[in-house]
Amino acid sequence: MAESQKRQGTSGKQKSNVFILLRSTCKSCFIRRFVLVHKEDWERYQRKEGLVQDIFPYLLASERDMLITQICEKCLPESEYDT
Ligand SMILES: [Zn+2]
Repeated sequence: MAESQKRQGTSGKQKSNVFILLRSTCKSCFIRRFVLVHKEDWERYQRKEGLVQDIFPYLLASERDMLITQICEKCLPESEYDT
């Protein structure tokens, strides 16, 4: 679905504008993906302060999965994307 078009509004809580580019290589097909995330979100993720989908609501589900499993969406069983 067009999840990429979902953008977080600029109203409300302010977030620093520091981004980091994560590099993730699929363990299966070795495709390299780049995912841009807020630095502070990445730090929260590394401290396990929440679920990935809560910390990175602006990423595609496939991008989040890539961060967790290091397997790209093409290599994941399709059934995992039925929800
Ligand atoms: Zn792959």
